[in-house]
Amino acid sequence: MYRRQIVKLKANARFSTICLHAGQEPDPTTGAIVTPIYQTSTYVQEELGKHKGYEYARTQNPTRSALESNVAAMENGKAGFAFASGMAAINAIASLLKSGDHVVVSDNVYGGTFRLFDQVLGRYQIAFSYVDTADIAAVERALTPQTRMLFVETPSNPVMRLTDLPAAADLAHRHSARLVVDNTFASPYIQRPIELGADLVTHSTTKYLNGHSDSIGGVVVATRDDDIEWLGFVQNAAGGILSPFDSWLVLRGTKTLPLRMVQHSANGMVLAELLAAHPKVKQVHYPGLATHPQHALAVRQMRGFGGMLSFDVGSLEAARRLLNGVRLMSLAESLGGVETLISHPASMTHAAVPAEHRAALGITDGLVRISAGVEDIDDLRDDLIQALDLI
Ligand SMILES: *Cc1c(COP(=O)(O)O)cnc(C)c1O
Repeated sequence: MYRRQIVKLKANARFSTICLHAGQEPDPTTGAIVTPIYQTSTYVQEELGKHKGYEYARTQNPTRSALESNVAAMENGKAGFAFASGMAAINAIASLLKSGDHVVVSDNVYGGTFRLFDQVLGRYQIAFSYVDTADIAAVERALTPQTRMLFVETPSNPVMRLTDLPAAADLAHRHSARLVVDNTFASPYIQRPIELGADLVTHSTTKYLNGHSDSIGGVVVATRDDDIEWLGFVQNAAGGILSPFDSWLVLRGTKTLPLRMVQHSANGMVLAELLAAHPKVKQVHYPGLATHPQHALAVRQMRGFGGMLSFDVGSLEAARRLLNGVRLMSLAESLGGVETLISHPASMTHAAVPAEHRAALGITDGLVRISAGVEDIDDLRDDLIQALDLI
């Protein structure tokens, strides 16, 4: 008979240990070291009213629960909720709002988040103000007595502007608003917003948490008991849950998150330095460069600077030559996978943003974004240099 071994995580377990073990005890039935994919829709009850805590798989699924505990521990929150996509996770957060509420949002927030807020939630008498949250004074000016949420992305996409999270948390809390942080770009290896004062953290697990470009998903990590109760209720009521298979894939991904983030960050740094020294590049946006206007803040609130960077090659034509010239890097939207991706924000991820608004955000026609993967850095460097030569 298999004797169940509970992996007892010490309260002060370090991050890599948490990634590997939190929420992932050996399977109680067999001892399988990997949490199985519980591909079932329902659970048989022993007798009327007597069950093992599992009734119906929209409500509870052991594979999903394992992932939720795992990510909650990684973010140092109290509970996690996994959804079918990053957008479904953000939609669940938005369900905390009521008509008449006001939300302050980072102005260069992910395009899908803007679309959800602007075109869906705007229909329910919820008001949104878009401000540069790198400027805390501007955030303060945007707050109204109706403000219930401050929704922040840091670093922001694609120009890598940072928001001072402890200052943002302090401001939100003084106005009885929640601070919500979309931590997709950084991952909890690099930055843990709850430790800096955030109330809610969300991720598109599609990106770094899964990390292998083979699943779409999202997660919310909460700290307040009232939020935990509501999010659990709404996850079941609205039903936008992550499937058992995708939960398993993301669990597989989080095990190696620390290893991957070290390499993403190292490769991002080398590429940023190469670009900053290259005569054909006008400007590089990467928080790890000492020339980044918020480098000191990055050092304070981030551990490493991640794999995301963008740079300006001066014109659409130059960007086109570069993007068509890369051989190893793949021209694609998305980010956070092990493969290096390169993209053109103005015509791809931010095409729906009006041109003058794009210009105000610094998203020029010559801007190129890279999600540095974990390939050998010398191959990435060679590829970028030969493509820059084509400009
Ligand atoms: C991709 C992304 C989302 C949306 O996630 P999906 O999984 O594509 O629904 C939200 N926020 C950020 C920062 C993202 O990069």
